[in-house]
Amino acid sequence: MEQWIFRNGQFVDRDSATVSVFDHGLLYGDGIFEGIRAYSGNLFRLREHLLRLYASAKSILLEIPYSLDEMMEIVAGTVRRNLLNDAYIRLVVTRGMGDLGLDPKKCPTAEVIVIAEQLNMFAPELYTRGIEVICAATRRNRSDVLSPKVKSLNYLNNILVKLEAHAAGVNEALVLNSEGYVVEGSGENVFLVRDGVVYTPPTYLGALEGITRQAVLEIAQELHIETREEPFTRHDVYVADEIFLTGTAAEMVPVIKVDGRVIGSGLPGEVTRQLHRVFQERTKTDGYAVYAPHA
Ligand code: PMP
Repeated sequence: MEQWIFRNGQFVDRDSATVSVFDHGLLYGDGIFEGIRAYSGNLFRLREHLLRLYASAKSILLEIPYSLDEMMEIVAGTVRRNLLNDAYIRLVVTRGMGDLGLDPKKCPTAEVIVIAEQLNMFAPELYTRGIEVICAATRRNRSDVLSPKVKSLNYLNNILVKLEAHAAGVNEALVLNSEGYVVEGSGENVFLVRDGVVYTPPTYLGALEGITRQAVLEIAQELHIETREEPFTRHDVYVADEIFLTGTAAEMVPVIKVDGRVIGSGLPGEVTRQLHRVFQERTKTDGYAVYAPHA
């Protein structure tokens, strides 16, 4: 089936959806992006994703040529155009075409791309069995250099983390900040459970303000599970009862081994499974309906 890509106001087929070699997103990582999911025709927390996109844009002084409400319809329209119900959506805004110099003033128009397709980050059995991870030697970008809160196209740091995971023969890695606190995964936020309390690092340590992270914190609070946003170290990870990662692409995936240490019983824990169950229910309702009319 043909795949339609939104590109600067038009839908083009997959093969025609190309960008210029002078695009500053390509030349310099000068741009931002979002990963969004639709579940059963509902774009999960679409407004929150777009608020983060517009915050990233503001931070790098990039003007998006659509209002937030227009962008909601563009994303929904791309899912509709591809007749999808369950989809992963990649929204990219680059500074656009310039010359070979750095100067963003030479890039008059931003490039806006929306791609919707089906994507499973991990094999389905890993969501029930759990994954093994390592702690990467690569440290997270420092917040005072390139803020990890800006979801920029500059993901080389995260790619280096992923390469380390692959070299170690595992799927994913945890990342520490320059002080040695565990902050997140290569593209996920991290949680641990100890004595029934759910912990996740505060985002000021250098993590992205994950939409899934926030949803899971809210679900835990509704279930009267205590949550704490506190720094933790590798040691805390090793002795946790349960660990899981959250992200739009990864969804909620249990971690059962870190640097060769078996976590808890070696199986996804009870709190993780409970949160996962409710998260899956929420994704069906907590969103922007793709196929319903919007005023
Ligand atoms: N951290 C990083 C570095 C990411 O790229 C992502 C994916 N967007 C996340 C965390 C998880 O964020 P979210 O739940 O909003 O997808």
